Amino acid sequence: MQEALSLLGRYRGDAKLLAGGQSLIPLMKLRIASPSHLIDLHRIPGLDYVKKVDGRIVLGALTRMSAIEESVLLKNDCFMLTECASQIADPLVRNMGTIGGNLAHADPANDMPAAMVATDAEFLVTGPKGVRAIAAPEFFLDTFTTALAEDEILTEIRMSVSPSDGGAYVKLERQAGDLTAVGVAVRLRFSEGGQCEACGIGLTAVGPRVIKARRAEEALLGSKMESAVIEEASRLASEESSPGGDLRGSAAYKREMVKVVTKRALALGHKRARVARR
Ligand code: FAD
Repeated sequence: MQEALSLLGRYRGDAKLLAGGQSLIPLMKLRIASPSHLIDLHRIPGLDYVKKVDGRIVLGALTRMSAIEESVLLKNDCFMLTECASQIADPLVRNMGTIGGNLAHADPANDMPAAMVATDAEFLVTGPKGVRAIAAPEFFLDTFTTALAEDEILTEIRMSVSPSDGGAYVKLERQAGDLTAVGVAVRLRFSEGGQCEACGIGLTAVGPRVIKARRAEEALLGSKMESAVIEEASRLASEESSPGGDLRGSAAYKREMVKVVTKRALALGHKRARVARR
């Protein structure tokens, strides 16, 4: 880690960190990125893990998508992340791509950022002055732009989730393996009486960066997820999105799909939370 940090400091904007290479290498092949140096993170020990620490799920930045997909701990405690990882690209990409790379790349069409803002995850980043924490919603600043400084490396992801939470990641894509047209991550927690006491909603591919649908979240808090409330929260999520039109659909189509996909994700998350609490 020290060596990687000192190389980053030495080459500054001329160097790029290389993790799984599943976004960086395609950009280099297209000559969109032409860094003069690559700093390979692979041989840094101790950055590849999924574990539970003090009730939180923590993941090392070099954890592969395939490891997330297969983790028994995540299947039990945060199935939404399993579901999200399993829908990313194809097995070849998932065997190489890392969670750190997926997040640091900050492509609004990448799926992991929505799961992070829905669970109010926290990122640990390491730089020459030590380690600092950044809350997920503050990490994603714009398309391909994060709060990481030029000389910092994303090292750990921390998620406060519980096995009784209900969650879902629902993704609309034109065909298997295509980038997301619209994606919605939800995380829901209920009281014994069945009232929603914590809720997070993240939207993929419908704005210049991942969107945390705060108004939709507020509409659900304290409710028992009656269908009218789900309907209203889905409408608010759609209002909070700002998609552009592209080959995956017009802006109007995507905004309508945010409503539909949010409704599906909330219904699924609610059902899973009920099953988990039984
Ligand atoms: P890299 O490509 O190595 O790096 C990406 C960027 O992040 C670079 O700028 C790099 O410098 C930086 N970086 C990497 N690690 C760190 C770190 N620890 N700290 C700071 N900066 C870092 N993604 C989806 O979410 N959903 C999809 O459906 C999807 N489909 C795809 C289909 C194909 C065919 C391909 C090639 C890619 C697809 N992707 C998809 C994108 C890809 O899966 C992710 O962006 C990828 O996982 C990035 O991780 P990586 O480890 O490969 O990062």
